[in-house]
Amino acid sequence: MEIKPFEKKIWLSSPTMHGEELEYMTKAYQTNWMSTVGENLDQIEKYTAEIIGCKYAVALSCGTATLHLATKLAGVKPGDKVFCSDVTFDASVNPIMYEGGTPIFIDTEYDTWNMDPRALEKAFEIYPEVKVVVIANLYGTPGKMDEIAAICKKHGAIIIEDAAESLGATYKGKQTGTFGTYNAISFNGNKIITGSSGGMLLTNSLEAANKARKWSTQSREDAPWYQHEEVGYNYRMSNVIAGVVRGQYPYLKEHIAQKKAIYMRYKEGLKNLPVTMNPYDESIMEPNFWLSCLLIDEDAMCKQVRSDSQACYVKEKGKSCPTEILETLAKYNAEGRPIWKPMHMQPLYRMNPFITIEGNGRARTNAYIAGGAVDVGADIFERGLCLPSDNKMTASEQDKIIEIIKSCFE
Ligand SMILES: *Cc1c(COP(=O)(O)O)cnc(C)c1O
Repeated sequence: MEIKPFEKKIWLSSPTMHGEELEYMTKAYQTNWMSTVGENLDQIEKYTAEIIGCKYAVALSCGTATLHLATKLAGVKPGDKVFCSDVTFDASVNPIMYEGGTPIFIDTEYDTWNMDPRALEKAFEIYPEVKVVVIANLYGTPGKMDEIAAICKKHGAIIIEDAAESLGATYKGKQTGTFGTYNAISFNGNKIITGSSGGMLLTNSLEAANKARKWSTQSREDAPWYQHEEVGYNYRMSNVIAGVVRGQYPYLKEHIAQKKAIYMRYKEGLKNLPVTMNPYDESIMEPNFWLSCLLIDEDAMCKQVRSDSQACYVKEKGKSCPTEILETLAKYNAEGRPIWKPMHMQPLYRMNPFITIEGNGRARTNAYIAGGAVDVGADIFERGLCLPSDNKMTASEQDKIIEIIKSCFE
């Protein structure tokens, strides 16, 4: 079959606007609430707290700023060790570095691609002093929340939940963004709904919410002049951005439904290939299906080699690899992406501990042991990729993507 490139690029995940966003932005303009106070901000904070089911929501400039304030609220000090998800976006971890802490990476499980509770338990055996655990819900799929929460409770540690990718996903009927003492969501341009940028801190503590409000607006004390007793940040969300978020919220459910349809269509279309989709436990969780991903069976992987900045592969009949699929998609003007490269494999974190279910993952010299339980993150990175998951992609465009992927295995 002759496949022609897409005329209009198929994106991994791009903003989907509906019109109301512009109305709320325009209203901010016309009423001159063009700063970091206003009705849009009040409304999205109120609404977020309501739909997520937490007491307080504080709108901030981005998800990373939110995680930074969460890290400060959790009391992370220079030299403190913090347990973190390993397969996640760097923004989960950067705030620990801002505060001078030391991230310790916890390996991933194959059931949801999130933090492995067994590895977390191992980590507490090695570092019983750790008091903060940062967990991310990768690609919109909740992790093993009950198990992780029980382990953290047992060891007296608090959770920071990085729900940046998982807004609207639920675990046992409960929204993500409620499992930590401090929780973060993101309205970055590629997330399930967007403000073009933006983030939101979620907590049930009034004291924490008030601190975050104060810190995010330069830590001004209650005085007639600019009075300061602690370090401040300029992290508050703009009322214009909040207008975009406000206009997006009514479409959150619709976006999730579209993303789920995309996931299901891939699942069906790829079922005869030696691949599986990013997994979840449908008996207890409902992801937001932000990104659809696939994992190539071990015995269907052709040879692939990656340096710090480049990749190459050796074509083999009946087999493929993420590099071949991504390059082929790009050739047809469609955007996929490698799995987020595990943090323990990043040069920046070369010296940081990495804990697997066997204990010290750094004791192994070879990061990638195919299919083994030794370094699950490296394995998923090696064999997995994110597929074009844009909710404006039509069914027939997606069918073409599926054909392109199939052609890689020929
Ligand atoms: C997007 C993202 C963030 C950061 O959000 P920004 O709003 O871009 O700062 C944090 N963590 C994860 C896992 C993300 O995907």
